[in-house]
Amino acid sequence: MAHVVKKMTNTEILAMKKELAHAVQDKTPPGAVFTAKLNECTVTAYQSGKVLFQGKRAEEASKEFSGQIAPAKDKTKTAKPAHRFAPPENAAELSMIGSDEVGTGDYFGPMTVAAAYVSASQLELVKELGVRDSKHLNDKQIIQIAKELIHTVPYSLLVLPNEKYNDLQQKGMSQGKIKAILHNRALQNVKAKIEGEKLDGILVDQFCEPGVYFNYLTKEKNLLKEGLYFATKGESVHLAVAAASILARYSFLKEMDKLGARFNTVIPKGAGPHVDVKAAELVEKFGETVFDTATKKHFANTQKALNLLKKKRT
Ligand code: MN
Repeated sequence: MAHVVKKMTNTEILAMKKELAHAVQDKTPPGAVFTAKLNECTVTAYQSGKVLFQGKRAEEASKEFSGQIAPAKDKTKTAKPAHRFAPPENAAELSMIGSDEVGTGDYFGPMTVAAAYVSASQLELVKELGVRDSKHLNDKQIIQIAKELIHTVPYSLLVLPNEKYNDLQQKGMSQGKIKAILHNRALQNVKAKIEGEKLDGILVDQFCEPGVYFNYLTKEKNLLKEGLYFATKGESVHLAVAAASILARYSFLKEMDKLGARFNTVIPKGAGPHVDVKAAELVEKFGETVFDTATKKHFANTQKALNLLKKKRT
């Protein structure tokens, strides 16, 4: 079983426990602060500061929960002022477009980016469909909700095939820049679709500092800047981001299924050792073009898979 160990501060562990309150188990192993069972991942935090992520989604979950949990505010210090692109306090009640991406940490499969518009009058309906933080939804729920969402809200879904991704990457484009370009385009698409409707703001699930985002986009002809907000954990700021996240994940799952059908196997998510093994297996059967057409070739997994093959051949 895949596992990842992270070192966290006591404050971070307590913040995570609060965040995972819905999944925290009654019984904890000796020396542990808590155990939480998530979708395909069990999280156990120890008093020593070690946090163990176990299961199929260990790698993904460890990334989601490290670095994203803001340490509890120290009230003796004045809070750092929010950047000028922070969403307004009442953001959740407004009519917004949101955007999010999936697949950036997965070796196999494309990057998918989605944007969706949820008007104030649709908030209740969208909530009723089950739209919430996709971290807490399993694949089956994602598919079910997404199938309803596509008939409910205006959206744009962009899939960047591996060939194209590798091409851009080899030409020197960073993953961050690729993301920024796709977010901007998906947002533009949705904005064009809802022309004339009420729009209070546009929320990007923040993957880099706003200044960096705009730097990435200096050459884009259609740069969307007006009314743009950035927030980490955007899903909890406005349902439009949660909806976009579900659509992006749905699209990623479909693409992974397609890849699986092409190679007649199940394609693993993430970038752990199990992924190296699968890559080596596929390259042995189908040749090294697999790297170009099915993976994010610049990941360390490529070399690891080649090493596995070399070992096998000698
Ligand atoms: Mn995101």
